[in-house]
Amino acid sequence: MASTTDQQEKGTTNKVTLESTAKQLPTPILSSSPGLTMYQLFDGKGENEGGSSTFTYLISCDTSKRAILIDPVLEQVERDSTLINTLGLSLKYCLNTHCHADHVTGSGQLKQIFSECQSCISQASGAKADIYFEPNQKFEWAPGHVLNILATPGHTSGCVCFYDSQLGVFTGDTLMIGGCGRTDFQEGDADQLYDSVYERLFVLPDDTIVYPAHDYKGNTSSTIGVEKTTNPRLSKTKSDFVKIMENLNLSYPGKIDIAVPANMKCGVF
Ligand code: FE
Repeated sequence: MASTTDQQEKGTTNKVTLESTAKQLPTPILSSSPGLTMYQLFDGKGENEGGSSTFTYLISCDTSKRAILIDPVLEQVERDSTLINTLGLSLKYCLNTHCHADHVTGSGQLKQIFSECQSCISQASGAKADIYFEPNQKFEWAPGHVLNILATPGHTSGCVCFYDSQLGVFTGDTLMIGGCGRTDFQEGDADQLYDSVYERLFVLPDDTIVYPAHDYKGNTSSTIGVEKTTNPRLSKTKSDFVKIMENLNLSYPGKIDIAVPANMKCGVF
């Protein structure tokens, strides 16, 4: 489901488990957004990895060399900081799509390494951060480069997605490839998640590339058009979706008791 003609038209996708950035740089995603370079990095189950199956996105402005990280993972701070330094970038912001329950954000350690870096999360998350996002905010992270903040509560009440009309949409746990984040803990609300997806994400152009926070099946990206028509949960009616979500019978997240308190500080400590 991940590979589509739409994606190939807009750019290739790469999942990168980086073993040594000093020896081998990952391949950037070929972005259709001029002046930007983007890497999709992955936290897998290897030695010194967190095992969270989380995608972290490094996006940089080719002119100013300013960079942002979306959803950094604590266990991957060395990978990320090495890559940023190797590329000669200046990390300005760590953006978190929400207060994660399955891993601890790397924002705090990255702030200690990169003195200019600020952590960001939505105001609605209730977490501490240097910068709080509001719904519909336009966040200019480098000269001429703006991310639109889409409020998408449902997985948690503070979930946001980041949309760049040329790059794509970073959907966190709100919309995953052929799935979505669970709604049975934190402030989860299946009804609300469905509305968020339909009102904020499925209204985007069909060829918009979807970059989720996680994938557990080896996919790397999708498109809004593909998810709208084939997502086994979200292509259904709202009542069918809510029933599906009520009957997932998922186990208690292993790291939630550590990750949520840590992430409520979002790197501000
Ligand atoms: Fe989550």
